[in-house]
Amino acid sequence: MQLKDSSLLVEACFIDGAWVGEGATPVTNPVNGAVIAKVPHFGAEETTRAVEAAGRAQAGWAKRTAKERAGILRRWFDLIIANRDDLALIMTSEQGKPLAEARGEIDYAAAFIEFYAEEAKRLYGETIPSPWPNARMVVIRQPVGVVAAITPWNFPAAMITRKVGPALAAGCAAVVKPAGETPLTALALGLLAERAGLPAGVLNIVTGSAKDIGRVMTEHPLVKLISFTGSTEVGKLLMRQAASTVKKVGLELGGNAPFIVFDDADVDAAVEGAMASKFRNMGQTCVCANRLYVQAGIHDAFVEKLAARVKALKVGDGTEAGIEQGPLITDAAVAKVEEHIADALSKGAEVLVGGKRHPLGHTFFEPTVLTHVKKDMMIAREETFGPLAPVFRFETEADVIAQSNDTEFGLAAYFFSRDIGRIFRVAEALEYGIVGVNSGLISTEVAPFGGVKESGIGREGSRHGIEEYTELKYMLLAGL
Ligand code: ADP
Repeated sequence: MQLKDSSLLVEACFIDGAWVGEGATPVTNPVNGAVIAKVPHFGAEETTRAVEAAGRAQAGWAKRTAKERAGILRRWFDLIIANRDDLALIMTSEQGKPLAEARGEIDYAAAFIEFYAEEAKRLYGETIPSPWPNARMVVIRQPVGVVAAITPWNFPAAMITRKVGPALAAGCAAVVKPAGETPLTALALGLLAERAGLPAGVLNIVTGSAKDIGRVMTEHPLVKLISFTGSTEVGKLLMRQAASTVKKVGLELGGNAPFIVFDDADVDAAVEGAMASKFRNMGQTCVCANRLYVQAGIHDAFVEKLAARVKALKVGDGTEAGIEQGPLITDAAVAKVEEHIADALSKGAEVLVGGKRHPLGHTFFEPTVLTHVKKDMMIAREETFGPLAPVFRFETEADVIAQSNDTEFGLAAYFFSRDIGRIFRVAEALEYGIVGVNSGLISTEVAPFGGVKESGIGREGSRHGIEEYTELKYMLLAGL
């Protein structure tokens, strides 16, 4: 890996302001399985040390003015942007997404630090008209304390900054466990935070045993909030574990996004939206379109155009120019896509494009379009998390809303229509935390991201995202 600043490739953990541990667990490049680096295999003992360091650092950090905290965060943002190319290359090497997407993610990740550096100064409280004449009521926001964060591999930078940005801005200290597949981006971000002047212990990064680290994070009394992005299964487990000490939880879990194209839609715009929503990050995002519903009158035209676009996607090593689809993260990810396709084909679906492992081998998979998809197939219920676009044909608005909502998930939904009445009707009827209308991309640091139902608890991004990291304190001033 040819970095401009080779010191950004870190093989140690960040605890209490020191880089500790030795490279033990290999981090591999999904393009070819080559080992890029090794990171420490830490467990309960080191995580406890990190939590205690965060506990010691937090009070001092919270006592600083919001402007001082914002200044350090702003320097961190500047350093991330200045090192964008190196960070993106580290990310592509461990995660597989094309370099252009990795650069985009670095900008997106940095934007959370910038936004919350600004927002730190606006954590306003309130006064309440008192029901008693000799009393006044004041409400302030205080940091929750030590925050623990567990993050996934699909966005190795942004899933960290959208938790740590608001946490640090609010005056919390954090302990982060990045995904085992993608710890290097996280550690590089930690190094830049140190260079930005973040005091020792305010940010700690621990790699190693997910189970052991997760247990300390959810059960240590010093930790006041656990923020998790990942699978619904692990999210439920962490929520159960966190119950023992009644911690606040922030959960961003699985999705099963419907992407609806009505007869009155602009077909070309809908195809572009579907490409952006479905094939970004090789389909490995929790807001990726999982089920494409296309109304009968426009179905064939949409499918034909979509197939042409999908066929033209360039698959390969994401560090090479012009590549639009990299490898999937692991063999297990490929196996899941294969399972969904096999199940659909056995129940009458047809492959229009792709459908199998890519000749490039390893974890490369052909971008795929399936038609004649029905609701009794696995893909109607489960998140595929891969480059597979299953197209359902539908007749009526009421029917497609019912099918879209027939899931335990409720993260993102998309639809294309040019009828203003329908736009409000459908947007309000969809049981999702996020609805994209005439767009396949919805994520930005300025808007609240999060799901309903079993897709999660809480919101990340926007002014609401920082409130999660605070507690309200109501002060009654009587006897005045
Ligand atoms: P995915 O299937 O996308 O990898 P996971 O939920 O398994 O989703 O992983 C998301 C994050 O949760 C990763 O950082 C992973 O290491 C972590 N994780 C997995 N199992 C546990 C666990 N038992 N306790 C705590 N963290 C876990």
